[in-house]
Amino acid sequence: MALVKISQILDGDCKDQKVTVRGWVYRKREGKSLIFLLIRDSTGVIQSTIKKDSPCWEQAQKITIESSLVLEGTAHEDTRAPGGYEVSAENLEIIGLAENFPISKDKSEEFIRDMRHLWMRSRKMNLVMKVRAETLKAAREYFDKQHYTEVSPPMFISAAVEGGSTLFHLKYFEQDMYLTQSSQLYLEILMFGLDNVYCIAPSFRAEKSRTIRHLTEYWHMEGEWAFGTMDDLIKFEEGLMEYICQIVAARCEKEFKELGANIDKLKAVKAPFPRITYKEAIERLKPKNPALDWGADLGYEDEKVLAEDFGKPFFVYDYPTAIKAFYCKTQKDHPEIALSVDMMVPRIGEISTGGQREDNKDILIQRMKEQGLKPEDYEWYLDLRRYGTVPHVGFGMGLERLLVWMCDLENIIDAIPFPRTTRRFYP
Ligand code: ATP
Ligand code: MG
Repeated sequence: MALVKISQILDGDCKDQKVTVRGWVYRKREGKSLIFLLIRDSTGVIQSTIKKDSPCWEQAQKITIESSLVLEGTAHEDTRAPGGYEVSAENLEIIGLAENFPISKDKSEEFIRDMRHLWMRSRKMNLVMKVRAETLKAAREYFDKQHYTEVSPPMFISAAVEGGSTLFHLKYFEQDMYLTQSSQLYLEILMFGLDNVYCIAPSFRAEKSRTIRHLTEYWHMEGEWAFGTMDDLIKFEEGLMEYICQIVAARCEKEFKELGANIDKLKAVKAPFPRITYKEAIERLKPKNPALDWGADLGYEDEKVLAEDFGKPFFVYDYPTAIKAFYCKTQKDHPEIALSVDMMVPRIGEISTGGQREDNKDILIQRMKEQGLKPEDYEWYLDLRRYGTVPHVGFGMGLERLLVWMCDLENIIDAIPFPRTTRRFYP
């Protein structure tokens, strides 16, 4: 009997053939003379029927939800079965008989979150993990097509990238160190040898607020390139977004459908995206939020309102320098405006931040001082401006925020297998 994946049966490739399936019991329904088992593997769920006169009736009676098994039988079309196919079982071997499985339909969201190690077997998480893997693959393809070199920055770092309030501190032997909040500064180092570089790596933020878009550990897709301009940056980011959405929509059509996600919004993602300035954003938001003045940081609620108007990805650029990090370059004649751009999507708001980096050593030192940072902590970073400085741009996009939008998830914790938040770090 041929060992097959469940998707092969569901695709009609094994019609009226003898097959062997390996997997786990997803559901079980027991009648007087018939037992229905829904069996899952990584590729799908198939129904199997066991009749009372079958030699495997006793095994089928004994088997429990989430037991692992090897099942042999004949695959055939049956319009009554979910997916349109089923396997009439002829032999059933129980591999690991499961104890009473703790997760069931009536359990609370909270309980299911505490059972993450078992919940990762659910259809939902299986589907999200596949979309996640395809998204990573598509992102890498795009960077590679554009001749970017993938690099591996460190996670232990000695000086902060973003603000100190979200910095995770740790003891590194006798010394103080931190977990990286972004790999940007290291990409800047590597750019001097490789021109165009990117990484897909974890970033850590001690975010205390509980929102649907913050984790304390998330995966950050970051790129940095020498001689790039703001226009290059925006074009690259919208190109990346279009590529990911188109490719993943095509490769994961089944997954999006089963997740109930709106795949049409992904197919509709085409560059160029709308661009508005921060000033325009404030003007648009002012009627709904009169307290919002030029200079204020846009909050989640503001970004959501803004994004509703667009209904698709768009850019906000020209932010006030005062709300941006020390490394942001500013407009030549308007130092109060930073060469910075955020990509936003409906429901989530910001999914990426990018911009031109300050390449002048003296201005950089001045900006550090203004923000209460010690230039001596950033000697190596200043060296990059001392030896062959170059105009350059870069950006960072949060993988999980992107997935929340793509898969229509309610919360970012379902976009990553083992979410870390203020309250969640088990297992
Ligand atoms: P926010 O203001 O929403 O907290 P940020 O502007 O501080 O985000 P950046 O430093 O610009 O974040 O980081 C780049 C990208 O990384 C963000 O656009 C977002 O997609 C992602 N990101 C940032 N913080 C988190 C987080 N705590 N959890 C998940 N993704 C994050
Ligand atoms: Mg940002």
